[in-house]
Amino acid sequence: MTANPSLDDARPLLAAADALLERAQQAARERTDGGEQIDAHQVLSEAVAYAATQGRAARELAAFVEQARREGRADPALERLAAAGIAEQVRGVRNRLEPLIEDLGLGEAALEQSFPSEVRAALRRVGHESVHRAIGRHVCETRGRERLPLDELLDQVRSAVQEFAEKEVAPLAERIHRRDELVPEDFIAKMSELNFFGLSIPEEYGGSEMGNLAMILTTEELSRASLAAAGSLITRPEILTKALLQGGTEQQKREWLPKIAAGEIMVGISVTEPDIGSDAAGIKCRAEKRTVEGREVWLVNGPKAWCTFAGRANVLAVLLRTDPDVSKRAKGLSLFIVPKDPFDGHAFEMKQPGGGRLVGKADATPGYRGMHSFTLNFEDYEVPAENLVGGEAGLGRGFYLQMAGFAAGRLQTSGRACGLAQAALEKTAEYVVDREQFGRPISEYPLTQFTLGRMASLLAASRAITYAAAGAFDEDERRAAPLAAQAKLLSCDMAVEVTQMGQLMHGGWGYAEEYPISRYVVDAQVLPIFEGVKPILELKVVARNLFAR
Ligand SMILES: Cc1cc2nc3c(=O)[nH]c(=O)nc-3n(C[C@H](O)[C@H](O)[C@H](O)COP(=O)(O)OP(=O)(O)OC[C@H]3O[C@@H](n4cnc5c(N)ncnc54)[C@H](O)[C@@H]3O)c2cc1C
Repeated sequence: MTANPSLDDARPLLAAADALLERAQQAARERTDGGEQIDAHQVLSEAVAYAATQGRAARELAAFVEQARREGRADPALERLAAAGIAEQVRGVRNRLEPLIEDLGLGEAALEQSFPSEVRAALRRVGHESVHRAIGRHVCETRGRERLPLDELLDQVRSAVQEFAEKEVAPLAERIHRRDELVPEDFIAKMSELNFFGLSIPEEYGGSEMGNLAMILTTEELSRASLAAAGSLITRPEILTKALLQGGTEQQKREWLPKIAAGEIMVGISVTEPDIGSDAAGIKCRAEKRTVEGREVWLVNGPKAWCTFAGRANVLAVLLRTDPDVSKRAKGLSLFIVPKDPFDGHAFEMKQPGGGRLVGKADATPGYRGMHSFTLNFEDYEVPAENLVGGEAGLGRGFYLQMAGFAAGRLQTSGRACGLAQAALEKTAEYVVDREQFGRPISEYPLTQFTLGRMASLLAASRAITYAAAGAFDEDERRAAPLAAQAKLLSCDMAVEVTQMGQLMHGGWGYAEEYPISRYVVDAQVLPIFEGVKPILELKVVARNLFAR
């Protein structure tokens, strides 16, 4: 038994997972008629979608190490971390599919053929507790601060953001959370100065076009300091940017993108309504075209819910029903850029000279504080005609543009989840080294080391799939959207699990507000809820894409 396996030791596991997944996906494709009948087989579809996501993460972790080897950045610690991370995900694939093997029509033989006894032995060896303990000891030595090794330029981006976040954001993060304060203007000004809002915006529209991986690294480091008061500031601009790039008119891109890139305007995204969540195609809040005093405007009426940052935002990207025929569902929806004044506090009222009104009230939440999420009500609220995204051609295309925006949002959220888990890993490593019980630091106990090792290897797999999705996004956003959804799915679950493991390692103090791990836990819990609540993301995005013929 070696406590130092390498990627090569994990290769048979990847092949086994691939073989089983291929058969499971094919069976699910047939069972659901190419994804058309997923609702009749939700439980099976969910399991296959999740297993496929874990298989993909394992493959991306292997690909990451292969590239690191080629570029001279791999070392035994990285190889061991990757091997354990792959074993963890592959075990997940097997455990998830095994109970459904008959339902999939595959039978015991399929399981045995993909995972013969020598592969099962390799899985036990590579994913052995001694490997995780060795990783855990390394995490304690480095206090969890090690990241996956990247090239020099990206490493510089990461270090620069880290320095900023540690100096400017971290000292205020606790206060903002506990007092439920609004993100300070100072953060926004400094983040704008450092160009954090324009990383994935093309240069011709005022961005720095550093690419999606730079955006992810920036997001991670900001989220490590504060998910709600820093890392999440980038989400909304990312969503609107991608929607505009996909379907905005040239004039709209020139009008809005430079302002987003410069951090001149803050954005809110408003899709959800009090009665409409996952079934976004059923949106009822409406916009009607009118001529008011010789001006062409859209009048907006109806309630919206959970619009994060709606108070401080200068514009809201609002998905509205422009065709009153509700049977048109998604085809009757259009996307608007709705200007408003910025407000601080937990409630606001915006009155327009013509009598239009927008009121907002923040809903109290246990975590994810700093931006406040608002229930809104629009009453004859005027929006200039030119703010219909895509112009006349954008009528009825809002749902599609919003989904394009969400694909980018999911990628960014995957980065947020990794940053938050990184924070939990570091604080836990520091704590267990300092904390003594029964006369020894608790970091010396095998179970503590094992837990830290698992935290690190789960995080490594999520990072690998997130970085792969970012790279794929640079190449072709549309084709990369399903991978971004898988990255979001896995990373958000990972953040929930890793923060809770960290909390447990803190004992009672992990439940005290005084220790940041308690904030990380409540912050992480929101991650699998938005941008497609987990079951919907699994069924309607991941499974649908995987099972399509
Ligand atoms: C803190 C916070 C911030 C948010 N910020 C924003 C924001 O800025 N902008 C915005 O537009 N929205 C935002 N949201 C809303 C979020 O996107 C929604 O909560 C989410 O889409 C789920 O919608 P819902 O809450 O109405 O749940 P529902 O859609 O009612 O779902 C409830 C449960 O039922 C399950 N379910 C529903 N339909 C099915 C089905 N067909 N099959 C199986 N299971 C099903 C779901 O998976 C879920 O578990 C935010 C939410 C929170 C909590």
